[in-house]
Amino acid sequence: MAPAMRPLALLLILAGCSAAPTTDMNADQRFQAHAARVLEEVWQEFPELAVRNGNYKYADQLTVPDQARRERSVAFYDRQLAALAQFDRAALNPSNRVDLDILKNRFERNRWYIVTFKPWQWEPSFYNVGPDIDLVLDTEYAPLDTRLRQTLARLANVPAYYTAAKASISDPTAEHIDLALRQNRGAARIFDDGLEKKVESSDLSSEEKALFKQRATAAKAAIDDYIAYLGTLKGTRNFRIGPELYQQKFAYDIQSGFTAEQLYQRALAEKAALHDSMEKRAQELWPKYMAGAPMPADRLVMIRAVLDEMAKHHVARDDFVSAVRKQVPELEAFVRQKDLLDQDPTRPLVVRETPPFMRGSGAGASVSAAGPLNPTANTYYNVTPLDGFTAEQAESYLREYNDWTLQILNIHEAIPGHYTQLMHANKSGSLVKSVFGNGSMIEGWAVFGEKVMMDAGYGGGTPEMWLAWMKWNLRAVLNTVLDYEIQTKDLSRDAAITMMTREAFQQQTEATEKWRRATFTQVQLTSYYNGYAEITALRDEMRAKQGSAFSVKQFNNQFLSYGSAPVRSIRELMLAGQ
Ligand code: ZN
Ligand code: ZN
Repeated sequence: MAPAMRPLALLLILAGCSAAPTTDMNADQRFQAHAARVLEEVWQEFPELAVRNGNYKYADQLTVPDQARRERSVAFYDRQLAALAQFDRAALNPSNRVDLDILKNRFERNRWYIVTFKPWQWEPSFYNVGPDIDLVLDTEYAPLDTRLRQTLARLANVPAYYTAAKASISDPTAEHIDLALRQNRGAARIFDDGLEKKVESSDLSSEEKALFKQRATAAKAAIDDYIAYLGTLKGTRNFRIGPELYQQKFAYDIQSGFTAEQLYQRALAEKAALHDSMEKRAQELWPKYMAGAPMPADRLVMIRAVLDEMAKHHVARDDFVSAVRKQVPELEAFVRQKDLLDQDPTRPLVVRETPPFMRGSGAGASVSAAGPLNPTANTYYNVTPLDGFTAEQAESYLREYNDWTLQILNIHEAIPGHYTQLMHANKSGSLVKSVFGNGSMIEGWAVFGEKVMMDAGYGGGTPEMWLAWMKWNLRAVLNTVLDYEIQTKDLSRDAAITMMTREAFQQQTEATEKWRRATFTQVQLTSYYNGYAEITALRDEMRAKQGSAFSVKQFNNQFLSYGSAPVRSIRELMLAGQ
């Protein structure tokens, strides 16, 4: 595509090289200077990506996703890949080698998305201006007036954005039409009286206010028009992407040391092993929770009965947020006492009630980390109170996050999970590894962190704690099995839901929601178990190599010190002793 761009690309590379004082720099310094320039070019070329990473220099721009833009992106990736090809991987130090791999992967992957995978064509949910507009309006990186002016500039492009969307879509799937409808209805709500009032009470000039009103009305009309258009689409394309695209997407997105098939086989074996261990723990707990009741012959029914009985032990609905707030310092203390990894008291985790604009779909807990570009900002642990729930919904939610699983949730999201990992990543000094963070490493670490805590005797090592952890871990394992079988093997909805409810002890609502997610995402569901499996294998490899010198704390600190790189890259660095 866009062959006319090629000579120009070469010129730019030459200009770039001659501008840099190459003679005084060694290969590593040259590469680092190049990588820094690449990031600047990425921010300029993709302003939305810049904003998502905490760079607001181009926050007044909204990209129109038309064919010209796609061709321009492909030309950009080709130019970047040609420039990266000039570097001799072997001449670089291991950290730069990994950054080179990450940049190459990212540009090849993005190119593949546009040219081969084409979600811009068959996923109508690809188009939604909501999140990026929200981010500028709701992140307090600058005074509100500045952010309103940047939004004013962006709004001018919203009608063109949706015109391009409609021109790009052909043969979409019903699942992505449905998702696009839900999401764009949410986007339309940005333009409610709340925003109007914000603009009215701001210091914008009366001309700016009038223009804002005019553009907001046009933007809202464009979204409504897109929603109406979505209603006319048929959606006959199969959402299952099939083995060939699946393997390619797995390779690009996960960057695993395993192939998709190897990971799937590993997950099947892990599922069987977890069932064996769960059977033992549940038998142990039977007299305590099911005294007098005959033990069912079907072990899956037996395990479920014990889990259901345990689930009745949970905090009161009004105490949900305070229970989480109370647990965070306890987790910090346990990690310190068992000497599991470094923490940083100067970068505390602030537990807060989820701000209203983030509350989308009911309850939940999430970490809003300080971005790599402003690492000293607060990190928030957003916990949503159960106010919006009916008594029945609240009870079901509290049983899911009962006295044991609530602790695992906090370990996963906060300590030593996502919050701790991202805090370490921000100190890694490699912006490339932070900005193009590997999702499987990030999720895998949070899952691995749960096991680190369990192995250290967290929660007194009771059978309840272990059984609850195994159920939680089984969900990650099953996510891999489901994703693979749904996308490449035609697994039916009924079979998938039975697998989740019977073999992984999930509730019906959780299972039906997971089915939906598995129809409009591909590969992402494998990221949790893949990262966990790769980190566990690396830990075992290092332990075997170092023998009695092996230290859990040293392994964890070192593993986290490289930033959010793919585990296979971290493995290369750790085995090289770098
Ligand atoms: Zn209850
Ligand atoms: Zn997570």
